[in-house]
Amino acid sequence: MMGLNICLFIVNLMYITFCSSVSVNESINDIKINENFLSNQKYHHYQELADLFKNLVSRYPNLARLHSIGKSSENRDLLVLEISENVSNRKLAEPMMKFVANMHGDETVGRQLMVFLAQYLLQNYGTDNRVTTIVNSTDIFIMPSMNPDGFEESWEGNCNSRDNYIGRNNAHGVDLNRDFPDQFIDAFNNSNGLPAKQNETLALMTWIVSNPFVLSANLHGGAVVASYPYDDSASGLDCCAESPTPDNDVFRHLASVYANAHPFMKTGVACPLDTFENGITNGALWYEVKGGMQDFNYVHSNCFEVTFELSCCKYPNASNMSYEWSNNKESLLSFMEAVHMGIKGVVMNHDGAGIQAAQIVIEGINHIVTTTNHGEYWRLLVPGNYQVVVTAWGYKPSNATPVTVVEGQVSWKNFTLELDSSHSDVNLNNQVEIIFHPKMDENGFATPTTFKHHSNEELKEEMNALSTNYPSITRLYSVGTSVEGHDLLVLEVSDNPGVHEPGEPEFKYVANMHGNEVVGREMLLLLLKYLCENYGTHPQVTNLINTTRIHIMPTMNPDGYQRAQEDIFLKLFIQLD
Ligand SMILES: [Zn+2]
Repeated sequence: MMGLNICLFIVNLMYITFCSSVSVNESINDIKINENFLSNQKYHHYQELADLFKNLVSRYPNLARLHSIGKSSENRDLLVLEISENVSNRKLAEPMMKFVANMHGDETVGRQLMVFLAQYLLQNYGTDNRVTTIVNSTDIFIMPSMNPDGFEESWEGNCNSRDNYIGRNNAHGVDLNRDFPDQFIDAFNNSNGLPAKQNETLALMTWIVSNPFVLSANLHGGAVVASYPYDDSASGLDCCAESPTPDNDVFRHLASVYANAHPFMKTGVACPLDTFENGITNGALWYEVKGGMQDFNYVHSNCFEVTFELSCCKYPNASNMSYEWSNNKESLLSFMEAVHMGIKGVVMNHDGAGIQAAQIVIEGINHIVTTTNHGEYWRLLVPGNYQVVVTAWGYKPSNATPVTVVEGQVSWKNFTLELDSSHSDVNLNNQVEIIFHPKMDENGFATPTTFKHHSNEELKEEMNALSTNYPSITRLYSVGTSVEGHDLLVLEVSDNPGVHEPGEPEFKYVANMHGNEVVGREMLLLLLKYLCENYGTHPQVTNLINTTRIHIMPTMNPDGYQRAQEDIFLKLFIQLD
């Protein structure tokens, strides 16, 4: 009898639980989606955008975090809003994805859609099941404008670019989507000499290679199509030569996810004169872009980026924005969900510790992805059967392991590697070199280097410039002031600047303690430039910065240096006299 009572009690409990869960679900679905941001049909300019994002962070502190990943040429912040549940702590193997819009300052639809998307995700989190699932499972980075200077020079209602591409280009007149290193051209052999990268480009390059992004969208305008890499080819032609990546199937799938959910993009004939089969195209087949961002993502990082052209008119009136939101909303959500495809997992040693920079090799696909410092990896793959091999420096390669990828979900696959003492002398360089294609000058620098003595003022400017251009891996700080009031500046270089990570050794270089001994001072400045410019492309530099917290002080005695300079001048003067 007592047993029966317990049974009934359990049945009752199940019924209550069942009923209450149904009513909760019903009430969730009954709540209307909140899109009140559409009532304000206007573009957000720089200050308004910054204020809005700050406001969102204060309203949703657990879901949103604001970053500046660098400065534009006119010193505007390159703002990124990160959205995820428990936003300051990414879960193990939770994928990171990014949206970058308005790289061409006069292509504005994507910019405003990002303003809407941020609010849509935050306002409907916890009430809409789909939004809640996306935010709970994904670390989303939203950059409404990579070219805030160009946007401020552009004219609302202008469907084409202004004369001389004012607004499309950055404040220095450079097209940012032609400013990235390109795998098919050796920029150092042309008559222009070394390429001097723009602030915006350097900021994005560093951000891309210093974070384990998995998927990215690059939002443009002036056409309606999803365009996937490569944008450039070895053919040297201006167009019409298909240039597929080794991951062509994955890229075609990703492009189709967006295009198929867009009522006009999928037709392929949304704008006059354009025809794209099913609304997607290989970039180089359409027209070649040398120095573009999406190729850089694929060639120099683990991230897969696709370019979405969103509107025939580059800068339509703001009154169209609600309409554009309705055209793109399903595409944006579906694209975020597409980051959860293929396989992911952790590569670890026998103690369960993650192995960094292990290589995930898929048989038949000549493109390797590598693991994070926690050993995590994400390998986007379309449904099918694959053989996976994992290799890492100092470990025996895994056996070829069969995996099956099914539609609409990501499969977990962890790997445990055995130490390989017989190959402990294997050079890390040989392991990683195949991924990267560094294009550096004969001294190993990416941008022109002036070999000269830098005055205190120039030294400060150089250190400031490095910290502005490489904010993800540097931190400029002062440890005090000299007798005459000069800051004693230190530039920290680390994959996580400002944070002491357990087990990570800290290292310092101090030079110019005697103000008139100046070689070390210049060497340290050159070393800083070298470390920053080679991070993400040079395996040893990358490994060094990822595993060490480096503090560099080029001068401990700026007053003495100044005196030494004046002294030389005085001697010259006396001799002349
Ligand atoms: Zn564009």
